[in-house]
Amino acid sequence: MKLFILGILLPFWNGVNPDQDADTLLIKHVHVIKMESKRVLQDQDVLIAHGKILSIQEASENQNSDSFQVVDGTGKYMVPGFHEMHFHWRNQDGGIERDLNLLLANGVTTVRNMAEYDWQDQVDIREKINSGEIFGPRYFTTGPYLNSSMLQTEEEALEVVKTHLEKGYDFLKIADNLPKNIYLTLLEEAEKVKLPVIGHAQRAMDLDYSLRMKSIEHVEEFVYLFDEEQRKSEEVMRETVQAIQVSGITIVPTLKVFERIVHYLNDAQFEKLRELEQAQYLLPGDRNYWLSEENPYRKDLKGKVLFGKDATVLLTEWLEWMKDFTLHLAESGIPLMIGSDTFGLVVPGFSVHEEMELLQEVGLDPFEILKASTVTPARYLRTQAQEGTVSIGKNANLVLLNSNPLEDIRASKDISAVIFNGKLLDSTALDSLLKEVLEINASYISSSGSDKD
Ligand SMILES: [Zn+2]
Repeated sequence: MKLFILGILLPFWNGVNPDQDADTLLIKHVHVIKMESKRVLQDQDVLIAHGKILSIQEASENQNSDSFQVVDGTGKYMVPGFHEMHFHWRNQDGGIERDLNLLLANGVTTVRNMAEYDWQDQVDIREKINSGEIFGPRYFTTGPYLNSSMLQTEEEALEVVKTHLEKGYDFLKIADNLPKNIYLTLLEEAEKVKLPVIGHAQRAMDLDYSLRMKSIEHVEEFVYLFDEEQRKSEEVMRETVQAIQVSGITIVPTLKVFERIVHYLNDAQFEKLRELEQAQYLLPGDRNYWLSEENPYRKDLKGKVLFGKDATVLLTEWLEWMKDFTLHLAESGIPLMIGSDTFGLVVPGFSVHEEMELLQEVGLDPFEILKASTVTPARYLRTQAQEGTVSIGKNANLVLLNSNPLEDIRASKDISAVIFNGKLLDSTALDSLLKEVLEINASYISSSGSDKD
């Protein structure tokens, strides 16, 4: 198929065939970060047609580009489209389109949804995106958020795997401690039918049990696997990181959502959250709820004692430990993926950049952070032949940035344009995606709270 497309399009590229091809896009004079290494290819011309990258070559003025849509990429940096690997659609008001717009406007071209609540049909959303009925990033989804009450017998475990296959979910997500026999039955049955199992840790069992999943969501889970003394032990840290590394498992840290919870409890930080620009993209009812004293963390935890300590102090300590742990994971080369949990004032799309920025503050190298949002999730999702790098023959799902993200990851949010399925979304198009969300929001005076996790 690729050769066929190349055969058809190379004549255009060489200027032999002057016919118009609206599907062909030429980005000129752009710096390309392929994400194969830290190397930046300076001043390139990137040709895109029918949704694929056709060529990447040193910029020249020789091509006859009359028949292409030409974009001046001078001074811009081209990176692969970002992946949001821990997304939740929390509030049905206004529809899924609100969130999908926010994701695309922020350069997220692939998203993994992490639960199906009872008012949703996540496979239907995925299929509608694939068929073009809904405009949104490439979509993957887990099945329902499974807690132990739904998995009380081995028969139920077998049944849940069966229904996941029938329904066509991409992943099975465990969100709770399960009895050992049920957990093992579930893993074995899912493995037989090649259904990846992911989720929270099995907190009541040794780490080794949790490492049998394809990924662990939230480094917070590791807090609960250990007691305070163990968390302070360098030996425990070393052994844990080694066990994770050897297992080959992937970890999605979701640090920002936890930091935000800590900030809800701190009066000065909470006050600062009122200035959070992206909060305008939340539904008005959600925004008001999270910014008010009704915020459940302020209401239920502020000033309260947790495990014998002031909750704010304790959660702050946990956050610091989680950051340190994440840095150890990164330094050991354990595959990490960017996911934000899109919960409360963690606003879809924008939160991908916040998570990346926090990882930079933690001490991760910008290249490693970009990997966690491009190369690593592509391989994890088994889409590495089409996604994850800026490479000839891969899907043209790309982001053009105004500055170099390898020098400072905060460049990731300074987006000049997004190329999605080979089509250019320039700054006007991206702005109108955001404007649509504001228009939908304006039609909601108030709305209900949102589902957790
Ligand atoms: Zn989640």
